[in-house]
Amino acid sequence: MRVAVVKESAPGERRVALVPETVQKLRQGGLEVLVEQGAGDGAWFPDDTYTAAGAAVTTTDDLYATADVILTVTRPDEAGLRRLRAGQAVIGMLAPLIDPHLVRSLAERGVTAISLDGLPRTLSRAQGMDALTSQANVAGYKAALMAADAYGRFFPLLITAAGTARPAKLLVLGTGVAGLQAIGTARRLGAQVSGYDVRPASKGEVESLGATFIDLTSAVSAAGEGGYARELTPEERDAQQAELAGHIARQDVVITTAQVPGRRPPLLVTSDAVAAMAPGSVIIDMGSSQLGGNVAGSVPGQSVVTPNGVTIIGAENLAASVPTAASNAYSRNISALLLHLVPAGDAGDRELKIDTTDEIQAGVVVAHGGEVVHPAVAKLLAAEPANQGS
Ligand code: NAD
Repeated sequence: MRVAVVKESAPGERRVALVPETVQKLRQGGLEVLVEQGAGDGAWFPDDTYTAAGAAVTTTDDLYATADVILTVTRPDEAGLRRLRAGQAVIGMLAPLIDPHLVRSLAERGVTAISLDGLPRTLSRAQGMDALTSQANVAGYKAALMAADAYGRFFPLLITAAGTARPAKLLVLGTGVAGLQAIGTARRLGAQVSGYDVRPASKGEVESLGATFIDLTSAVSAAGEGGYARELTPEERDAQQAELAGHIARQDVVITTAQVPGRRPPLLVTSDAVAAMAPGSVIIDMGSSQLGGNVAGSVPGQSVVTPNGVTIIGAENLAASVPTAASNAYSRNISALLLHLVPAGDAGDRELKIDTTDEIQAGVVVAHGGEVVHPAVAKLLAAEPANQGS
């Protein structure tokens, strides 16, 4: 069986789906690996490192013509999608709940689509496949570094002959995987860190990292399904925003990471809260996307300075900016999932065995056999007017 790694094409995307070390492991597992020329360049894995690991470095045309399974980090671009053919499978972070039309168009063309976004994350045997976690970890780390870089003062307490600098006060809103990593990194840089989340379970996690948890008097438990948060009601949201504003005004740096699966990111920092911050303050909005963000006035991919001197950075896709670490982790995740999907036969041969009665497969397989098989994606498509989408 031939698996192929394509060169990512999204703007700013520097990750690669497989790194040479994992190629070697897949080869030992009986898989043939093809790599598109230059696929690893952005993450500092030149073609010859793949060749040395036993992969065949090849052209785009050859790769799509001969591969059984295509591995990607994010969704393939339009040219790549047009090249996919019936019977082929594509595995990557395809964001099927954000772009269900992609899944429908792959299903219509007989392509099997498998998305790591849907992995059941609390299942212990799936943890090595959890790309959302590995990439959020990288992104949370980078968010803290980005904040330190944009901030015009020190993060740590510094006592020097030229005077004493107080430590920066940093608040992380949304303390899931990325938020906890941002807290840990900011603490290592010496900042005075606090955190807040709507899931009560996160209080202990924040405190175990040596940060302070902010208890809001208006707090409600908003723990949802699968360890995720649920969306707040408008009344809960208004109370949260109003109370958070007082805490935000006292911070030098705020990092926001809040997400609710399948929904627009919640607005946590209002324009009034931004206006109450001191000049020189920095906000990193990791919730920033085309769907909106956690911070009023944030623009995805841009740094804006408000009239009162607050820098707001719309930090999209931060994992791509630490490409080697992010690719190393992603490569382990995707190869663990791949080996689960292609069990070795008696003769050591491997082929894709789709079985959605398996809990892992039920989460990740979104299109197969000409159908959209993932219930949540199918529901989104069914809710649309008949002639919409691609
Ligand atoms: P996420 O990216 O969906 O959201 C980030 C954080 O934002 C979450 O902690 C969420 O509670 C918080 N949030 C949402 N709305 C908010 C609001 N209005 N105000 C404040 N905070 C808000 O979350 P994630 O990082 O992917 O983690 C989700 C959950 O999955 C967590 O409970 C995490 O511990 C759990 N998880 C478990 C495992 C495992 O068991 N192996 C692995 C990964 C994640």
